[in-house]
Amino acid sequence: MSNENVSIEALGEIFRQHQTFAVMSHMRPDGDAIGSQLGLGLALEAMGKTVFYWNEDGLPENLEFLPCSEKIAQPPAEAPVIDVAIALDTATKVRLGENNLAAAAKASLWVNIDHHISNPRYGDVNYVDATSPATGQIVYDIITALGMPLPDGARDAIYVAVSTDTGSFQYDSTTARTYRMAADLVDRGLAVGEINAKTYDSHPFRRIELMRALLNTLELTCEGKLAHWQMLDQWRIDMDLKPEDSEGLIDMIRAIRGVQVAVFFEELPDGKIRVSMRSKDRSVNVCDIAAEFGGGGHALAAGIRMAGPMASAKELVLQAIQRVL
Ligand code: 5GP
Ligand code: MN
Repeated sequence: MSNENVSIEALGEIFRQHQTFAVMSHMRPDGDAIGSQLGLGLALEAMGKTVFYWNEDGLPENLEFLPCSEKIAQPPAEAPVIDVAIALDTATKVRLGENNLAAAAKASLWVNIDHHISNPRYGDVNYVDATSPATGQIVYDIITALGMPLPDGARDAIYVAVSTDTGSFQYDSTTARTYRMAADLVDRGLAVGEINAKTYDSHPFRRIELMRALLNTLELTCEGKLAHWQMLDQWRIDMDLKPEDSEGLIDMIRAIRGVQVAVFFEELPDGKIRVSMRSKDRSVNVCDIAAEFGGGGHALAAGIRMAGPMASAKELVLQAIQRVL
C-alpha cells in the first residue's frame, strides 16, 4: 500500500501486463460508479482484455439505458480467477460489499481509482484525485493519456458518470477541463439530448410519489439554514421503491434559498440509517461531519451509514451540524 499516486504510465503498464480484470464500484451504485466501471471496462475490453463488471447490488434500473450495462453483474459465489481488481469511485474498501470482496480476494493486484478526499488509499496501487468532480473524469483522463481505445459505450458511460456527479455540470467542482472533456465526447459522437433525456427525464412515477411523501416531512431549522427530511423503510414496501429512487432528491431541498446544509435520513431494511448530506457553503464541510460518525465523501456532499433508530440518529447528526452552523 502506498500513499503516493501511481503515474498514469504505471497504470498503463499494469493494463498491458495483465489479462483478466474485475472492475468494481460501491454498493448502491450511482451514475459515477456504474459509468466508471463501464468506461474503463469497455476500454480494457477494446484492448483485448477479459473484464468482469461486478457490483454488490447489481445494475440499478435507472442506468439500464447505458450501452453494455447488462455486463454489470453481482459478484458470483464461485468467482473466476482474476489478475487485477480495480475499485472505482469507492471511498472505503468495505463499501465494495462482502460478496464483491470475496470474489476479488484472490486478485494478485488491487488498484484503487477514486476522487473521494476521504479515501484511505487501500489499494496496492492508488490513483486518487480529489480535484476531479467524478471518477468518470479520472477514467477519461487515464484512457486519453494512455491512448487507449474509447468505444461508444465507454464514451456514453463516462459522460453520464460526470454529469450525474456534477449535478449536470453545475457544481463548483466542474472545471474548464470537465467541459473540455464533455466537448470531446460530443465530438466523438455522443448524442447530448438523447442521453440527457434518458438520464434526467425518465423517472418512474413511484419516485414522484416518494418526493411527495418526503415533502410532508420537510423541516427547516437554524433560521432556515438547515433543511432535512426523512424516509421510513415502510415506504419502500408500500411504494415498491428501489434504492435508486431516492437518488438526487436531496437537491430539491438543497436548492431552497438560505439553506446551507441539506440532510436526508433514510431508514434501511436492516434498521440502520443512511444519512445523505449536502452543503452549499465551503465553510461547512459535511465530509468532516460525516467522519465524526464513521462516514465520508466530499466537502460539499457526504454520507453516513449509522445505527438507528431514526430519532436518535437524527438528533446526533443534526446537533453536530448545528454546532458548525
Ligand atoms: P450520497 O449522499 O449521494 O449517497 O453520497 C454523497 C457522497 O458521500 C458520495 O461521494 C459517497 O461516496 C459518500 N458517501 C455516502 N455514504 C457514505 C458512507 O456511508 N460512507 C462513506 N465513507 N462515504 C459515503
Ligand atoms: Mn463519484
